[in-house]
Amino acid sequence: MEETMFWSKEGKKIKCGICVFNCLMENGGFGRCKMRYNENGTLKMKNFGKVQDIKKVPVETIPLYHFMPGQDVMLLSTIGTNIDWLTKIDDKPKGSKIKPEELIKDMNSKKIKILAFDDYEPIISFELVFKIMRLAKRYNIKTILSTNGFIDSEAIKKIGKYLDAAIIKIVASGDKDFYEKYLDVKDTSAIFDTLKNFKKHRVFTEVANTIVPEIGESENSHSHLVDWLINNLDSSVPYHLIKFEPFDKFKNIPETSPELFERFAFEAEKSGLRFVYVHDPYVGGYSTTYCYNCKFPLIERLGEAITENRLDGDRCPNCGFRISLVLE
Ligand code: SF4
Repeated sequence: MEETMFWSKEGKKIKCGICVFNCLMENGGFGRCKMRYNENGTLKMKNFGKVQDIKKVPVETIPLYHFMPGQDVMLLSTIGTNIDWLTKIDDKPKGSKIKPEELIKDMNSKKIKILAFDDYEPIISFELVFKIMRLAKRYNIKTILSTNGFIDSEAIKKIGKYLDAAIIKIVASGDKDFYEKYLDVKDTSAIFDTLKNFKKHRVFTEVANTIVPEIGESENSHSHLVDWLINNLDSSVPYHLIKFEPFDKFKNIPETSPELFERFAFEAEKSGLRFVYVHDPYVGGYSTTYCYNCKFPLIERLGEAITENRLDGDRCPNCGFRISLVLE
């Protein structure tokens, strides 16, 4: 269990292949995530097997709206990240060791059928995530990955058959200049490669996009993202617009306004996305799942809680149209 995966020797250095940054580390050196390091020619990970937190939440809080709606999820907040965004790349993350077998058995006895990996970037804890996913499958527990998308394709291949659903959390519509200037990422194509890879591995995927006012509200980037989703995934991919709230180095940027949300939501729908959700109580009508065919309200929500579910299986009870969602 203490062995790390996906690394190779490059002369005296080690190359890590967990995420697309593929860090090269000298002896004693750390990767971008400050979690993985070269110790005398072996790749090690700090705080191996530890997580920040475990709690039970509704699946809607992830947010996933079309995957087993209304069900409880055991949410594991892992440690480590590769992008400084809501959480900083931190070389001293707090965490406590967990016992994967006990976790899965506990979930099974409590009849919790979904397990999700979230915050910071779960792929940094790849070995732990992989081990728990494999155990979960034995108990028919579904698994969800919440990720920023910068995963190496080989790592996706490894977890693909154990992964049921994913949410890709994009910032500023994946705008290249924003990622380069504010997140120290030169190439955003990995986000789109990961979306394609999830599709290839039949992972049910939803997309979340945090709209950052002023510095990350490019309409061109948003159009490009929406068109890409329609042309490469499906017009039925659930699409979440997430509120930006000022923090740290972005403390002078205002939060996303209802007007900005409405503009982006309108654009996404006009372009052809069928299920657009806005995570702001001041923007009406965008927390409900409507039948795409007859506009009948199928699932109503207050915040992240379902208040009404009128689905007839996976069909609209009004017109019989089949809705793209996973029920079990
Ligand atoms: S997990 Fe990613 S950021 Fe961390 S060392 Fe490996 S390649 Fe670098």
